[in-house]
Amino acid sequence: MSLRHGFKAEANRLAVQMRRELGLHPVSPLAPARLAEHLAIPVKTFSSAIAHDARIGLLLTGEREAVSALTVHAGARREIWVNDSHDPGRQNSSAHHEIAHALLMHPPGPALDPRGCRHWDGEIEEEANWLAGSLLITNEAAWSIVRRGTSPEEAMLQYGVSRQMLTWRMNMSGARGRRIQSAS
Ligand SMILES: [Zn+2]
Repeated sequence: MSLRHGFKAEANRLAVQMRRELGLHPVSPLAPARLAEHLAIPVKTFSSAIAHDARIGLLLTGEREAVSALTVHAGARREIWVNDSHDPGRQNSSAHHEIAHALLMHPPGPALDPRGCRHWDGEIEEEANWLAGSLLITNEAAWSIVRRGTSPEEAMLQYGVSRQMLTWRMNMSGARGRRIQSAS
């Protein structure tokens, strides 16, 4: 499965545009809660959703650990629920993944499957993953991490990402190559 031609550049443009709309620099971190608020998408945690409605607890029974986040559709409205038992980096990535589905106007999937986020369409899942990565760390941010010599630990903290996400974005944005080039 590969992304359609031009999608990666489009995703980065969208990630930069969202920052502009919020008055942020292209290299700035962007918390999913802030973007969701801008897009008028309520974000709830599993804990609060379960506290609010016991049926949600039943829905997630046995799968609660495995599900990272999900989008609940009610007519034209969406709500994002994030599994707050996961570490913060994973929560940010899961929340941005769900926001990405909304930004890309992906149609709602069929009723929730046991894994929560529906993997019924590999292409739209891949698009959401890619855009989520760009929303977390734009190409500009990745290049700035290299330029400023930010350590991985600092970058993880600054952008609220896991080491795996940081490594992936540094590779995919081409920033890693720049580091090697500038060192040689
Ligand atoms: Zn998804």
